[in-house]
Amino acid sequence: MRRERTPQPSPPVQPANPDETLAADLTRGRRRSTKPAPSPSKPSPPETRRRSAPGLVTIPAWTQYPWLIAGFSTRQGGLSTAYAAGGPPEQNLGYTTEDDPATILAARRRLVATLTKSRKPAPDLITIRQCHTGIIQRVNRADLPLTTPDHKAILRGDALYTRDPNLLLGILTADCVPVLVADTRTHAIAAFHAGWRGTLARIVEHGIETLRRDFGSRPGDLIAAIGPSIGACCFAVGPEVRDEFNSQFAYGPQLFSEIDAALTPQIHMDLWEANRRQLLDAGLNPSAITTIGHCTACTRLPDGRRKYFSHRAEKGFTGRMLSLIGTTEN
Ligand SMILES: [Zn+2]
Repeated sequence: MRRERTPQPSPPVQPANPDETLAADLTRGRRRSTKPAPSPSKPSPPETRRRSAPGLVTIPAWTQYPWLIAGFSTRQGGLSTAYAAGGPPEQNLGYTTEDDPATILAARRRLVATLTKSRKPAPDLITIRQCHTGIIQRVNRADLPLTTPDHKAILRGDALYTRDPNLLLGILTADCVPVLVADTRTHAIAAFHAGWRGTLARIVEHGIETLRRDFGSRPGDLIAAIGPSIGACCFAVGPEVRDEFNSQFAYGPQLFSEIDAALTPQIHMDLWEANRRQLLDAGLNPSAITTIGHCTACTRLPDGRRKYFSHRAEKGFTGRMLSLIGTTEN
């Protein structure tokens, strides 16, 4: 199928998030810091000149919660050359077969330090062995470490949740939808990996029910962010996917559109809307949901490079972004 060559109409959801890049975070961090800002005329050491800061998309509506740490990584500003095709190093954060584990670990630590403004102690990063299911795993500080000695995830499933502070829940994606949820009252948090299979398994809807059951979360207190992922502009699917959703969701037909691509009709699916509907069905207020609205398959930087890794657009030879959510002690 000519999936990569499909025409790309405007995404159905307008980007809610202008890029809040690292620069904004660093600016905020410096304002809080007691140390004076470095003089702009002072030359950078060679190492910082060579490496750009980790690319990060933050959620503007969440900056009002000082206890909440969250963000979605981009492809830029990392240490990996595996997928860079001779260009600047990139921020691969998944243990992919083509990349070097030590490089990936170092890149993860850089991103965590950026997101947490190098707070000490650094929060513990928890990831999960993702397998496109509806399995939801609770993590507690008492269960640490939840990694192998070489920093790989131990738990299996596609969602993590906790109420313990100083843990960073991480979801790896390269087209699938990362969904982050926080309870502004209890400070419970959850991170979801929602590809079409996880979405079909209602992983987000069930995850919210789990927060209610385990922590007494009230949907009206929850906020959610749907991260960069493949948009309806680029996500062509087979008729069997549409049939599955139509058989299980009353709103199924609203998630699909037919697009003529080189005279061949294609079915495109809107995973952002599918997950937004699950959040709404779980009781969240529409205004509490942020959809970042960046398509991982077709969003480009001004210089033409890809802003994100895309499994679909790059035929599987690509890195992974890391979506993170955590809370501080207070
Ligand atoms: Zn697209």
